[in-house]
Amino acid sequence: MTVQSTTSTAPAEQTAASGITPDRIAGIHHITAFAATAKENLAFYTNVLGLRLVKQTVNFDDPGTYHYYFGDYHGRPGSILTFFPIEHAAPGRGGTGEVAATTFAVPRGSLEFWRQRLAGAGVQDVVTETRFGSEVLTFSDHDGTSLELVEVTPGESGTAPAGATTSPSSGVPAGQAIGGFFGATLRVRDIADTGSLLTGTFGYEVQATEGRRTRYVAAAPASEAGRYLDVVTDGLNARLQAGAGTVHHIALRVSDDASQQRFSDRLSRRGYQVTEQRDRSYFRSVYFRERGGVLFELATDGPGFATDEPVEALGGALKLPNWLERGRREIAAALPAIS
Ligand code: ZN
Repeated sequence: MTVQSTTSTAPAEQTAASGITPDRIAGIHHITAFAATAKENLAFYTNVLGLRLVKQTVNFDDPGTYHYYFGDYHGRPGSILTFFPIEHAAPGRGGTGEVAATTFAVPRGSLEFWRQRLAGAGVQDVVTETRFGSEVLTFSDHDGTSLELVEVTPGESGTAPAGATTSPSSGVPAGQAIGGFFGATLRVRDIADTGSLLTGTFGYEVQATEGRRTRYVAAAPASEAGRYLDVVTDGLNARLQAGAGTVHHIALRVSDDASQQRFSDRLSRRGYQVTEQRDRSYFRSVYFRERGGVLFELATDGPGFATDEPVEALGGALKLPNWLERGRREIAAALPAIS
């Protein structure tokens, strides 16, 4: 395998005080997938991976289904993996147009801890790969959702901010805990369209290519979580079939409504069908499908998960948007039992 590094050719641009360039994507905001059982989903991501349940709500478009948000202690953008657990959902099948893997960052030196922890939890087929010179632990949850762990040093993408413990009850020591996303892998048939969207519209740069995998990096400070998107064209020609264990969409971060609007306009000018803005309570979103088939969302950083409950209580109670509150009793009664 050869690794070709390419150097940046992008012109220098003004950056905000945060170091994030307003009209370039800062990285992944969240990733949303389908699961088959709420109870198992909750147990795996909190007890085994040690993430914090930062919000329990329902699918706003289908209130009979939970919507779980897992992330770091504060629920920061860039750490959020969310699920619609649809009881007894049929398994999906991977293919082109999918988010093929979600990659979390763990502190350097902790992969052995994770190998043992996953084995102890009965996770099968934990495989170590070497990718762009780094070891990557690949495995799946009980529904087949592809997950990866990669080691990072402090200051690299996905490093946990100081004091950002995840789920204290999980028993994962802070020195081994997942910080946030390192990145994700998109599978497409042809890299041209997806690649030009990332570089031409979103400000990503090609960092390296290894075989049929090209790594794109967002124009954000090195420590921002979820800076990396790998695009693979591995010869799989069947289209993604949605179902348990597959990702529904990937959301990228925009700083605010104005930035989101500029991206929407830019996408529309380039022929993409972008939805109107939707209020997701914890962020505001627009959606579009890119030409490789992947469903993208652009989500604002604010208002965040502490908008309807304090940080220390995140995830502790079922939260509903105002327009669903009047049906709370019926909605809660229809949700699957989890304890
Ligand atoms: Zn979303």
